[in-house]
Amino acid sequence: MAGCFVKGCKSGPVISLRYCGEDLCRKHFLKKTWKRIKRHTAQGELVVSGDRVAIGYSAGKDSTALLHVFHELFSKRKDISLVAITIDEGISGYRPPSLRLAKKTCKALGIKHAIISAEKEFGKTIDSVAGTLAKTSGGRGLAPCSYCGVVRRYLLNRAAQKEGATKVATGHNLDDEAESVMMDFVRGDVQKMIRLGPKVGVSRFSGFVQRIKPLRMIPEREVAAFSLLNGWEFDSSVCPYSSFALREKVREAINSLEVAHPGTKYSIVSTADRILPSIRKGFLGAEPKICKSCGELSSREICRFCEYVLGAPVPSPKESGPPAPGPRIRVRVK
Ligand code: SF4
Ligand code: ZN
Repeated sequence: MAGCFVKGCKSGPVISLRYCGEDLCRKHFLKKTWKRIKRHTAQGELVVSGDRVAIGYSAGKDSTALLHVFHELFSKRKDISLVAITIDEGISGYRPPSLRLAKKTCKALGIKHAIISAEKEFGKTIDSVAGTLAKTSGGRGLAPCSYCGVVRRYLLNRAAQKEGATKVATGHNLDDEAESVMMDFVRGDVQKMIRLGPKVGVSRFSGFVQRIKPLRMIPEREVAAFSLLNGWEFDSSVCPYSSFALREKVREAINSLEVAHPGTKYSIVSTADRILPSIRKGFLGAEPKICKSCGELSSREICRFCEYVLGAPVPSPKESGPPAPGPRIRVRVK
């Protein structure tokens, strides 16, 4: 790295953005990142007047950046309010330190903070189900993340509803989004894929709080650098179960492509954004499919929540017939 990319700047660069050929000093990197997040939030109308935004806040680097940025952008606005929600999945050694930090940060920023415990809600922790998941899931050998992701989404949505939130903001970064696109390809899950995007909500289904992802075009290492260089305290520990996830394998593949072909992650997400509206058209107007066990919206006969958490029996392929072709869920995405 030579000097800062910005003309006339004499400061030494702290980060190299290979995909756009820019080496930036601290000041210009922070300025550029702030501008990108603000532009993404404004252009996508992710937060509008009257919103109460529930921030999914784990105290990791991504949600920490999101919490601070939203505090800066909206805490002085009378027409927008914020609440932070932390889900305690029950992972010993990993979650307790970040819960303490989350409490401390919210108190310092004056943001209302709700902690929701999976154990209190369902009497089960991720630790308690991790060992038995393979047996209890019809021998399909599920990773703890399959259960954890369902539980976290459910609890976050329900807590946001209780808080009267109109939006749920999550700290998904560009890497997360690129991985999600590729995972849906790997699994052939088109119904899940159509729910990707910066702003996703399900119309005609009042139980779902619209989700927004203001950091989804910022690469993970830049979100980490952004939090570090701003001096925001975050928890950098890694979940002990992360290596079991399909996401981890997809991440390795995408990262090696990004090294060989800078800009890969951006291309994956922006290409998906361009082709998804056409795919979604085929799903608009279709009747939503309802879980036979709980009556909530689901892309399956028995939703994952009922299957994993409540242990509802899943019909065998013979009972339920072949997978239904074509559209089921009506989504509203911008
Ligand atoms: Fe849950 Fe998996 Fe994430 Fe760990 S890595 S917090 S188990 S989803
Ligand atoms: Zn500079």
